[in-house]
This record gives sequence, C-alpha cells and structure tokens, in this order.
Amino acid sequence: MRWSFRGDDGQDLAVDRRKHMVEQQIRQRGIVDERVLKAMETVPREAFMPHDMQDLAYADGAMPIGRGQTISQPFVVAAMTEALQLEPGMRILEVGTGSGYQAAVLSEMGAEVYTIEFIPDLAREARARMEQLGYEHLHYMCGDGNLGWPEEAPFDGIIVTAAPPVLPGALGEQLKPGGRLVIPVGRVEQDLRVYRKNDDGSLERHTLFAVRFVPLVSQG
Ligand code: SAM
Repeated sequence: MRWSFRGDDGQDLAVDRRKHMVEQQIRQRGIVDERVLKAMETVPREAFMPHDMQDLAYADGAMPIGRGQTISQPFVVAAMTEALQLEPGMRILEVGTGSGYQAAVLSEMGAEVYTIEFIPDLAREARARMEQLGYEHLHYMCGDGNLGWPEEAPFDGIIVTAAPPVLPGALGEQLKPGGRLVIPVGRVEQDLRVYRKNDDGSLERHTLFAVRFVPLVSQG
C-alpha cells in the first residue's frame, strides 16, 4: 500500500518525517547552520520524488528519479549547502537540477538560483514542479553545466551535483572573489571539495569527505 502523507485527521504526516530526518540524519552528523536545518525541515522532499517512490522520500540515502539520475542523500544536500555559506540574496549557480530539490532548498534560504540541467525531460519536469510549488527567484537552463552560465556570471557561490573528473575551468572563472564552489571531483568515488576564490583569483581548496555522485556529462 502506498504511504499516505495525510493522517485520518488530515494532518500532514510528512512534517514529522522531515523533523526526524533533520534531527537524526543531519543535525546529529554535525550540520550546525540553523538556516540549512530550517530549510530542509520546510521543503517537501516527497514532492521531488517519482510518485511510486514517495514513501522513501525521507530515507537516509540517494534515490532514483528516472533517466538514470538521482536525488542526493539528505545529509549530502545539507553538507553541500552549509559549505556554500550562503546569505539571503546571494546569486548561486547550481549545475545538475535533477529533481529540483537542492534548488528548492537554496531558494528557501533566500538565494537567487540559476540552475542548469543537461537532460531536457528532467529540466522540464523540475521547472513545472517548482512553479507548481511556488518557489521563486529561480532561473532555469537546459544545457551543459561544464560551461557554467557566462551571461549571468559572476556568482556568489556555485554548487555542482554531478561529478566531473577534474574541476571545469569555466566554473572557477565564474565564481566571485570570496565565493565558494562546492563540487564532487573524481571518477566512481569522489572527493567532495570546497574551493574558495581569493582576491587575486586563485582558488584555495579543502576536502569534506568521500561521495558517490553520477558523472557530470561532458561533450568535449
Ligand atoms: N541536484 C539534484 C536534486 O536535487 O535532485 C540532484 C542531481 S543528480 C545527482 C545530477 C544531475 O546532473 C542529473 O540530473 C544529471 O542529468 C545532471 N547532469 C549531468 N551532467 C550534466 C551537465 N554536463 N550539465 C548539467 N547537468 C548535468
């Protein structure tokens, strides 16, 4: 039987599941930014899952969203979002729209989000979903995120949710000085890296932990 998000009294059961997800999977593993925790307690993750998988929306892992792609594990979304150190009004580039969940979390935190997806069906579905849910300050592009979004650059932060073998040069170039770029880099298993751009344009990097993302498709 499909799990219902409404109790007999009409109460939204997903609220409790989200609270539990945030406490058990995210806060207890060391995420401290209250704005990230609040956003993830608010965004209805089940709305970003395929209909027949909505009962797994709050499970502790990445889940398939069709076309061989995934919605990331809640903890990984939280860690990447925290690493961006975002403030309301910041212009953030996301590469890999997927279901739109990560973009919704960024929007919930007050960012102006520019999101790029390579697969047209996913791009279309994510946009329709976000519009239906009423998320604002989102800009969509269907194309190759390796190139970034030069017309809208520079960005205060960049988050990449698919893994290239090396950092795409255009993304480093499109980051503002002082900004952070969060990206998994490597083949099969990757390092989740955070690059910070210095005033002289150089990038400083540190690694958070190992992750497994789908590959960032490259046409080059
Ligand atoms: N952020 C997504 C979410 O919240 O659901 C999860 C993204 S999923 C792990 C990675 C996404 O990156 C897939 O939708 C995939 O099609 C997309 N992708 C892969 N290569 C890409 C590229 N070169 N440019 C843009 N998107 C790409």
